[in-house]
Amino acid sequence: MSNLSYVNENTDAWQTYLAQIDRVAPYLGDLKNYIDTLKRPKRALIVDVPIVMDDGSIQHFEGYRVQHNLSRGPGKGGIRYHPDVDLNEVMALSAWMTIKTAVLNLPFGGAKGGVRVDPRKLSTRELERLTRRFTTEISPVIGPQQDIPAPDVGTNPNIMGWMMDTYSTQHGHTVTGVVTGKPVHLGGSLGRVRATGRGVFITGLQAAKKIGLSIENSKVAVQGFGNVGNEAAYLFSQAGAKVVAVQDHTGTIFNADGFDVKALQNYVEQHHGVAGFENSQKIDNEAFWDVEMDIFIPAALEGQITVERAERLSAKMVLEGANGPTYPSADDALLRRGVTVVPDVICNAGGVTVSYFEWVQDMASYFWSEDEINERLDKLMIQAIEDVWKTSEEKSCSLRTAAYILACERILKARKERGIFPG
Ligand code: GLU
Repeated sequence: MSNLSYVNENTDAWQTYLAQIDRVAPYLGDLKNYIDTLKRPKRALIVDVPIVMDDGSIQHFEGYRVQHNLSRGPGKGGIRYHPDVDLNEVMALSAWMTIKTAVLNLPFGGAKGGVRVDPRKLSTRELERLTRRFTTEISPVIGPQQDIPAPDVGTNPNIMGWMMDTYSTQHGHTVTGVVTGKPVHLGGSLGRVRATGRGVFITGLQAAKKIGLSIENSKVAVQGFGNVGNEAAYLFSQAGAKVVAVQDHTGTIFNADGFDVKALQNYVEQHHGVAGFENSQKIDNEAFWDVEMDIFIPAALEGQITVERAERLSAKMVLEGANGPTYPSADDALLRRGVTVVPDVICNAGGVTVSYFEWVQDMASYFWSEDEINERLDKLMIQAIEDVWKTSEEKSCSLRTAAYILACERILKARKERGIFPG
């Protein structure tokens, strides 16, 4: 256990990741000799993505695909479309994928991609052209046995369908296994869209049991109401919790009695944001952090929980639906205050786990029922959180460091056994 603060609030995502790696190093014994392999990406590709806009003008966008580590198998990780995407962020996101696939013991390495673009500002045709050109530019490094993209912030099953089609066109035959998170009729998997939110709920239930927190009537606050936040909020409300506050890019809404989450989902589908939802009180974005809550679910972007916010948070449990929402210094503050943090690399791993199932189904051209998918997902997630919990007790460390111990042991053992070429 460490109370060192390696980096301050103004840190970047890659620095956050490096600080997390520094914290796990003392627990790795001889494998520590290989840890530098995790402190740099194996391969990083920067591409120019020119597209013809609907008005005939030409615009250039910058895109990335980073393969952080391939010791345990092909690269795996999503594609982000967001105006703040840069190399530093994609590097960090790819590294978190390396850790995530290893904690779940999936036979993949870690990768991530992105384009610096605001997808809300593009027409559907422009979005399709951007996706097809970006796929073409990264096609030398992706493939079902090389590196398998998937959805992330700002991308969705339709975009994965265009990626699959573009790659297939260039290879002269349909290659369903090149991306996951596709529409179900194009080789996608049942249960994939809701898998990340489901995983947040399943790991949250397990953690709640361990700390003696009853879900019935507990108060939940959610940041981000996209694919992850909305499903997690729905499942907690179905289990009897009250979702009392939700924040997204349109503002923050509050209702002490809890929202009707199904109605909120319908509202967001129509209005593209939570602002203005009936029976809700609009509160200041910063006041969100002072709301009385038992469970906090950050499900938006990285770098949200600072030390200052960590000190104010009344939650007993933080479930990281987002990747990298907590600064290392805030992690220390939460640990000191006795707040249980279920870290991103396990909490939001439901998505990549069902992506793995999708890839396996595509390879076999044999598809499973949604019940089979959910049953297998729940089993893997429960096993993973049990293992992480046990390690955190044995080593007296946070759940994040425990998850990193299990992951780094697997990755660095593979690194060691494969050897360093040319030797
Ligand atoms: N983008 C998701 C994540 O951060 C899913 C990745 C995948 O399915 O490969 O885990």
